Amino acid sequence: MSDSNKKQITVTSPLLPPLEEFIPYLHKIWDSKWITNMGQYHQQLEEALCDYLGVKYISIFTNGTLPLITALQALEIKGEVITTPYSFVATTHSLWWNGIKPVFVDIDPITCNIDPNKIEAAITPQTTAIMPVHVYGTPCDMDAIQAIADKYGLKVIYDAAHAFGVKQNGKSVLAAGDMSTLSFHATKVFNTIEGGALICHSAEMKKQIDYLKNFGFEDETTVVGSGINGKMDEVRSAYGLLNLKQVDKAIDIRKNIVQQYRNALQGISGISFMNDIEGVRHNYAYFPIFVDAEKYGMTRDELYFKMKAKNILGRRYFYPLISTFSTYKDLESSNPKKLPISVKMADSVICLPIHTELTDEDVKRVVEAISR
Ligand SMILES: *Cc1c(COP(=O)(O)O)cnc(C)c1O
Repeated sequence: MSDSNKKQITVTSPLLPPLEEFIPYLHKIWDSKWITNMGQYHQQLEEALCDYLGVKYISIFTNGTLPLITALQALEIKGEVITTPYSFVATTHSLWWNGIKPVFVDIDPITCNIDPNKIEAAITPQTTAIMPVHVYGTPCDMDAIQAIADKYGLKVIYDAAHAFGVKQNGKSVLAAGDMSTLSFHATKVFNTIEGGALICHSAEMKKQIDYLKNFGFEDETTVVGSGINGKMDEVRSAYGLLNLKQVDKAIDIRKNIVQQYRNALQGISGISFMNDIEGVRHNYAYFPIFVDAEKYGMTRDELYFKMKAKNILGRRYFYPLISTFSTYKDLESSNPKKLPISVKMADSVICLPIHTELTDEDVKRVVEAISR
């Protein structure tokens, strides 16, 4: 059988709770007729997430983009915000939806995260905040970013969509900055089908966020701000409670796959990948490889399409850069000459398949497609 006839290997596959465990929850929700608007499972999921993640204040949302938009509203961010072009579009779109001008800064070649050494040069009198991303779940240089923020009086909002459960020196990365956001989209390490969360550091702020995600309602007749509808419903909250119980096992499976990839790919000239960082509890959300066309003898796209022909679907995350999309391409900071590392990484990356359904046989097929 030729490879093109073999089973399709997808880049990801959703972590699903056991259906037979989900059904009793559905019965309870049906019986109660309380299907959304901060019911018992919404409450329980927020508590369970605080526990699991090691944070004090979390507000869950119906997706991972609304927490970004809401964080900017809650902190009244205006003017310009410094961010990275090497991310999923939602990061920058959240700024645009708030009428904020994104200012792109280049990334670090080792972590693919925003390079703190390049932030200061991008600060203007209009700058009010920094929005970094823990890309692939690798922690940003949070101390360096905070030092700059403190020096210039800027807020820091982390897009931690990839960093569910990631810790550095025993502490959640979600503790950094003024706020952090998570995504619980189907493709993420922990999912509620669609979903997300906003993490803040005071009870007062959590209350503001809870109002903002419910149209600004403080009580039946009082609207304290121009909020939005970002509420997570009871069905997905219950689903999340069940998935949370198996997320550690899922991370272990991912870790095992990453180790197999690293062992098998380390000898291949022109293929590089990221290694674990000491003191970091990684979540193995993604496994990006970077193709050096000259050394490898094939461009990234050639390898990508060769894999595709063998029914192995990698993803070129993050290509193209956000700064190349029509909305942003004419911004001064989108000039590719100012973003050489971002351009280089975007042009060489392929994220390999990684999920809990991936078999050893699948991993072998992926490795063989790259080795030959
Ligand atoms: C997935 C993701 C988001 C948005 O999440 P949704 O839940 O799909 O709205 C935001 N930022 C990054 C970096 C992401 O990967």
